[in-house]
Amino acid sequence: MLEYQAIIIGTGQAGPALARRLAAAGWQIAVIERKLFGGTCHNTGCTPTKTLIASAYAAHVARRAADYGVNIGGRVSVDMKAVKARKDAVVGPSPNGIERSLKALRGCTVYQGHARFVGPNEVEVGEAVLKANKIFIDVGGRALVPPIPGLDQVPYLTNSSMMEVDFLPPHLIVLGGSYIGLEFAQAYRRFGSEVTVIELASRLIGREDEDVSQAVADFLEEEGVDIRVDTKVLRVEKQGGDIVVAVESGGKKTQIVGSHLLLAIGRRPNTDDLGLDAAGVATDQHGYIPVDDELRTNVPGIWALGDCNGRGAFTHTAWNDYEIVAANILDNDPRRVTDRILAYALYTDPPLGRAGMTEAQVRQSGRPALVATMAMADVSRAREKGETQGFMKVLVDAQTKQILGASLLGTAGDEVIHCIIDVMYAKAPYTLLQRAMHVHPTVSEWVPTMLEDLMPLR
Ligand SMILES: Cc1cc2nc3c(=O)[nH]c(=O)nc-3n(C[C@H](O)[C@H](O)[C@H](O)COP(=O)(O)OP(=O)(O)OC[C@H]3O[C@@H](n4cnc5c(N)ncnc54)[C@H](O)[C@@H]3O)c2cc1C
Repeated sequence: MLEYQAIIIGTGQAGPALARRLAAAGWQIAVIERKLFGGTCHNTGCTPTKTLIASAYAAHVARRAADYGVNIGGRVSVDMKAVKARKDAVVGPSPNGIERSLKALRGCTVYQGHARFVGPNEVEVGEAVLKANKIFIDVGGRALVPPIPGLDQVPYLTNSSMMEVDFLPPHLIVLGGSYIGLEFAQAYRRFGSEVTVIELASRLIGREDEDVSQAVADFLEEEGVDIRVDTKVLRVEKQGGDIVVAVESGGKKTQIVGSHLLLAIGRRPNTDDLGLDAAGVATDQHGYIPVDDELRTNVPGIWALGDCNGRGAFTHTAWNDYEIVAANILDNDPRRVTDRILAYALYTDPPLGRAGMTEAQVRQSGRPALVATMAMADVSRAREKGETQGFMKVLVDAQTKQILGASLLGTAGDEVIHCIIDVMYAKAPYTLLQRAMHVHPTVSEWVPTMLEDLMPLR
């Protein structure tokens, strides 16, 4: 039995940072990783997808070169092997760097293998049994594989296997019209694939306001992505070189035929093979580990951080989990999960920057509110860049004047959203932002301007 002060399972977003803090505080710790150091974000999530999206953007702009007075002289073509090589080169250094830095940490022992609880304080990895009074679970999640008839007989792709694709799928069928599915859909359309997105719900990205969903659907369709909402998949099968998806929509049964199938209908936490029963750690019906406001599980001495606790599904929420745990354990600083404000982005082009409540949520809350919107076509910076799709929307509490939420769908929306987020964290009235002098010409300079036009939300 090998004894440590703490064991960290998983080296995604929260694990390595916590390991560095604990080791710096003089703790003897063990870190366990079963596969890729750096987890989803570095290897099969954020970094590689945004790198692919950058290649797709370059292809898109190249095709639009004439709009900018630039002659390309010939057809724009995409070399998928080079696209993958660029992605690999951008991703490459991070996982190695994380592995090296953990192995070099004083007081930290790194184990490579699958971790499984064998008791409340004990974790088995390979032949070794490790013991600690404090155990931090950061095991993340993986693509959800739904029980669709025939799926077990058909080759399919997930966000992980997409990372090995170095060819152009002639026709990519994407199951799922949400964040991950739409990013891949647009990127592959721009690479040159035919792309069909199948979504069960009546609209894409159903958590967003209807006007946001519609605007995203509009620009994707304009680029030639075939979007099928309200469409239920009945079964899938392989016919020769094709993948045939039998669907039902509006009571009508049809088939969608493609060359490749990507599953992007959700994630499931990596908690099913962790031996949680042996430790007495509870999970909910989806396998997420319920935690309190300081990320403690139901078992004293065991915490759950990152995607596996169901309190966030982003790199920044996993990182924030690390900060909360470190602050409470090491700094006597009572940080809480409920202190954070919902924020994320969808990295289509144009991107969607989101903070706080949607308009639908504000309406549902019944509070008096104000709303301001501005079309990106009215934003001079967007016109200068030739990227005028989308709109910005900000919601404000009519009484407190605090910002309740924002949806910024437009060029630089993923960056501009931070001026909103920071004012929300400051709990300052929107007038603070309205009176700030922003730099010209930027998209951000229009946020104070649009706030001049706040109207009651009817
Ligand atoms: C395609 C895609 C795109 C994304 N894009 C974005 C984005 O743009 N922005 C954003 O904020 N988020 C994005 N995300 C989400 C983001 O990647 C995750 O929220 C983030 O990686 C979660 O980090 P984590 O620490 O919870 O777990 P993970 O990063 O998933 O890491 C968990 C680690 O634990 C290891 N592990 C699991 N079980 C065991 C075990 N039993 N023993 C040992 N090790 C184990 C795994 O091998 C893995 O390395 C994206 C996700 C996907 C799939």
